[in-house]
Amino acid sequence: MNKIVFATNNMGKLSEIKKIVEDYPIEILSLSEINCKDNIPETGITLKENALQKAKFVFLNFGYDCFADDTGLEVNALAGEPGVYSARYAGPECNADKNMQKLLDNLRYSNDRSAVFRTSIVSIIDGEINYFEGSCDGIITKENKGLKGFGYDPIFMPIGQNLTFAEMSIEDKSLISHRGKAVREFCNFLKLLNTS
Ligand code: IMP
Repeated sequence: MNKIVFATNNMGKLSEIKKIVEDYPIEILSLSEINCKDNIPETGITLKENALQKAKFVFLNFGYDCFADDTGLEVNALAGEPGVYSARYAGPECNADKNMQKLLDNLRYSNDRSAVFRTSIVSIIDGEINYFEGSCDGIITKENKGLKGFGYDPIFMPIGQNLTFAEMSIEDKSLISHRGKAVREFCNFLKLLNTS
């Protein structure tokens, strides 16, 4: 069984990823399990840069094989905003509710509500860096729906669905989500590493 650290403090992401890897020979360790209490910096200007920064932090300071993800929600009518700044969209005092409200306010007069969630994963295994990507197209709803998930889930409805991510089970979300796709790609890579 491979032990690998997932460099996040986001419990929503951690539970999603732990569920996805249930079928793979991988054991995920959280930051608290390796006694990492740091607030890992995310100062890049792309998702890839941020994911690399987080993975490198764990690898260089704790010496574990690890991976990190960074996710952004790109809204077409807002020229791709909030994108890499999704976590801090509503400013320094932001939280998920304030971020969603700002997005709904900015889209109030827009007929184009199309958007895409993108995830970049960066892994560092035996010192070697690899990248994985996943995306999910959808629309921004006019109001919040559902209580599950985290972040922008209550206002994101994937294409071809009539539920927001926040109305889906964690399993159903992961089957079609940006993170689900990127994590499965990463898990397949790990499987190949183990058989070669
Ligand atoms: P980060 O990848 O943790 O930097 O996340 C960027 C922002 O997107 C944060 O506000 C997250 O809550 C949000 N976010 C990340 N992944 C998801 C998701 O799967 N659904 C909804 N919001 C997400």
